[in-house]
Amino acid sequence: MSNLPPLRDVIAAHGLRASKALGQNFLLDEQLLDRIAAVPGPLAGERVFEVGPGPGGLTRALLRAGANVTAVERDARCLPALAELADAFPGQLRVIEGDALKVDPVEACGGPAHIVANLPYNVGTALLVDWLESDAWPPWWKSATLMFQAEVAERIVAKPDSDAYGRLAVLAQWRCEAKIAMRVHRSAFTPPPKVMSAIVHIVPASAPDGVDVRTLARITAAAFGQRRKMLRQSLKSVAGALDALTQAGIDESRRAETLSVADYVTIARLLGSA
Ligand code: SAM
Repeated sequence: MSNLPPLRDVIAAHGLRASKALGQNFLLDEQLLDRIAAVPGPLAGERVFEVGPGPGGLTRALLRAGANVTAVERDARCLPALAELADAFPGQLRVIEGDALKVDPVEACGGPAHIVANLPYNVGTALLVDWLESDAWPPWWKSATLMFQAEVAERIVAKPDSDAYGRLAVLAQWRCEAKIAMRVHRSAFTPPPKVMSAIVHIVPASAPDGVDVRTLARITAAAFGQRRKMLRQSLKSVAGALDALTQAGIDESRRAETLSVADYVTIARLLGSA
């Protein structure tokens, strides 16, 4: 394990010049990588689903922590470097070449897993929404430790009455605990991206009874789709929503960003039972 070459040498040896199209910004600082791998808690013997391992910096840290890692990487150029890592940690790493958006994580991991990923932000957001919208709850994932550009991380953990509060915050928080675990300066990446990043840590909690995620998504889409309008206007298009507001004792003249996550859950429950 300690015989692993520095990541810079791995990148040079395998000609892994960062591809902009694949959103590649690599992390090379092993101490930082160990700190990120510690965010989910002790990983010895735990399954980890890693998306976008690239040259394997974060993967190394997860393997050092004793995790059994299933990693999905789209860039075939990275596979030889990852194969070397698999040899250095026998039986601990399985690499799947492919697009994480098309891989079935339940089948890939074979059981409940922690998700860890440093991904391009568009792919990361699409995957996160998919994981958060899981019908099965508790879901297949035990926690998610995800790097996002700081602005997206703020939107995930945002509280009411802020500009960052919106659909993503409600979706992330109605049956999960979400927090920013660490901020990561742009200079930590090679090459450095234009913006700052942050690691978000999300842990599934119990789901409130009688609430359907699609109903909740429909309400938040309508409410935040016209966030400057009063609810009596923005929720007009959702059948039964204005009655639900009345039943919940929520004033129709309020705006989307003033409602708590619990308020949205109440409206969705009332609509679901209507
Ligand atoms: N984890 C490495 C690190 O921290 O240094 C690499 C991070 S880099 C920001 C993102 C990685 O995700 C790249 O290796 C890229 O090829 C990979 N990637 C991009 N889109 C992907 C997708 N749809 N499915 C799987 N991997 C993807």
